[in-house]
Amino acid sequence: MILETFSVGPLQCNCTLLGDEEAGEAIVIDPGDEVGRIYRRITDLGLKLKQILITHAHIDHVGGAVKLKRLTGAPILLNENDLPLLKMMDQQAAWLGVATPEVTAPDASLVDGLQVGLERYPARVLYTPGHTQGSVCLHFEPLNMIIAGDTLFAGSIGRTDLPGGNSRQIIESIESQLMALPDETRVLPGHGPPTTIGAERNTNPFLNLR
Ligand SMILES: [Zn+2]
Repeated sequence: MILETFSVGPLQCNCTLLGDEEAGEAIVIDPGDEVGRIYRRITDLGLKLKQILITHAHIDHVGGAVKLKRLTGAPILLNENDLPLLKMMDQQAAWLGVATPEVTAPDASLVDGLQVGLERYPARVLYTPGHTQGSVCLHFEPLNMIIAGDTLFAGSIGRTDLPGGNSRQIIESIESQLMALPDETRVLPGHGPPTTIGAERNTNPFLNLR
């Protein structure tokens, strides 16, 4: 198994490459920027890209998706409730002071319960709105791991002050979807260091307010 994280772009989004050397296949999650670097790695490993999975449509997570699709032919999957954010890409680029990346409608929606990923390393979509209305996490049960996007961080949670954000909803999503997972589940957040469900259950100040 190949599992590599690249911190890409000015906001250092954690882009993840998951590959199966035996099957010769890979998926990429959140190629926000630096697509050349990610594509080179996929090519060096001799892998075929099967899916481009987007946890939510903020520019730092989705910005390089179309470029990567062009290079590989892989479909882009993104929850449909984030389509309004995709349409605001000019505004999102202006927030960061960067050029507007090309965007396109996703090939499929990451709806709750959908199975995605690789044959040997499948993931189930956990719909976790709150940071945005289309935010999802990906639960790779055989790997005991979730990709958390900007929903849950080590010691923190995603901001809810941007369009589509809802502070009550993000806590509900984390409690109902993520805290239902076993303590030993590894969490790879969209920014910053990895953590575990148990560590966040016990110490995350945003989850222990009641
Ligand atoms: Zn975000």
